[in-house]
Amino acid sequence: MAIATINPATGETLKTFEPLSDQEVEERLARAASEFRTYRNADFKQRASWMRAAADLLESEREEVARLMTTEMGKTLAAARAEATKCVTGMRYYADHAEEFLADEPADARAVGARHAYARYQPLGPVLAVMPWNFPLWQVIRFAAPALMAGNVGLLKHSSNVPQTALYLGELFTRAGFPPGCFQTLLIGSAQVERLLRDERVVAATLTGSEPAGRSVASIAGGEVKKTVLELGGSDPYVVMPSADIEGAVSTAVTARVQNNGQSCIAAKRFIVHADVYDEFAGRFVERMESLRVGDPMEDSTDVGPLATEQGLDDLEKLVADAVGRGARVLCGGVSPDRPGWFYEPTVLAGVTPEMRLFREEAFGPVASLYRVQDIDEAIALANSTSFGLGSNAWTKDEIEQERFVADLEAGMVFVNGMVVSYPQLPFGGVKNSGYGRELSAHGIREFCNLKTVWIG
Ligand code: NDP
Repeated sequence: MAIATINPATGETLKTFEPLSDQEVEERLARAASEFRTYRNADFKQRASWMRAAADLLESEREEVARLMTTEMGKTLAAARAEATKCVTGMRYYADHAEEFLADEPADARAVGARHAYARYQPLGPVLAVMPWNFPLWQVIRFAAPALMAGNVGLLKHSSNVPQTALYLGELFTRAGFPPGCFQTLLIGSAQVERLLRDERVVAATLTGSEPAGRSVASIAGGEVKKTVLELGGSDPYVVMPSADIEGAVSTAVTARVQNNGQSCIAAKRFIVHADVYDEFAGRFVERMESLRVGDPMEDSTDVGPLATEQGLDDLEKLVADAVGRGARVLCGGVSPDRPGWFYEPTVLAGVTPEMRLFREEAFGPVASLYRVQDIDEAIALANSTSFGLGSNAWTKDEIEQERFVADLEAGMVFVNGMVVSYPQLPFGGVKNSGYGRELSAHGIREFCNLKTVWIG
């Protein structure tokens, strides 16, 4: 895949980039390794002041960065602005809390025959981040803010379709005062990732993206005995029970499905509705999905912009065609509007069955599947009948039912009477084929640390 900015709203190639040569990659690796030897000793106060400066810079440049993201991957400008603001919050959060999250953890010294015993979190070294285009700023910041605050240094291999956002990120931290080797962007294709993973100077890796990319990175890193964190998407269930606030469930369902033009790992994708409220929910949901405005993502009036890539549109069209060809019913949408760019109408399908690809695969675009169930057991069984296990949503006012969903949904996250959102304060990650490890909160910053046991007699 060429490294290029191609506007998904028009299909026009705006700028192309040459990948780094082997020599240039080598120079950046050497700089990362040598910088780590010094940076690991910077105290929290120093790291936090640089992180706050980076947050201030991003805040002051929010409009330009938002426009850049919208140009490169098509999210609405409003969503891009919100993403930039979220990054600023996340950076300040880790500037404020890293020291407390990584404080020495005392142990019972007497029980182990020591005068002092504790565990200390220390940074690991240069960490490779392989990142996706869908939240081109936030996916990177939620790695970079904790990693840098922990004393690690970062190497970013971003998606090939967001090179200018990637370059912006590479410069942001240096402009804020971090030494230049602390965070570097490598404009390279995915074929160059293996070499980095096998290089002894790269000590760990994190990847957010598709399952095949995650499997590849994890297996190479595993062969080199290097830690990985993987976030590989999902097919989140959204269960609605009879006691639910139906109006709240419907309006949140629309947002949960079409956020980021439908291209979010934690977007609700499978809507599982109790028979008692199915008709009411389905009617209102379809009506709202139909009324969304599809169009230029730079316009304030637009609800849904284009898909980020031509390939993404092609994949989505094939997924829907397969379902319809096997008997699924289109309640709205199901087509790509006749205009330049990679747009797809908000779509609701009913009658999706296990032999359809849509039943098993992630629909990365504004396509919702509706299922009717008779009781909570059937709802949970259907919700869990997927190889993914990232987020999950359940709507019910019944506290016994709420506890059932919390206990029995096979997912890294469960949100009751709300939609799955990533917050700096809460751990984020999945189970099953959605990956492993956690980002955000105290857990995220500890993923790339050496938890050193200290025993002093
Ligand atoms: P990919 O997983 O291919 O891309 C994500 C990142 O991984 C990019 O930086 C990409 O680089 C890199 N990459 C791809 N293949 C490899 C590999 N074998 N080894 C190392 N790095 C690799 O996602 P796509 O953009 O192709 O999207 C395809 C599907 O993936 C989507 O339809 C969706 O289902 C899922 N996805 C999920 C995301 C999530 O948030 N969980 C985000 C994006 C996609 P390059 O761009 O150079 O290929």
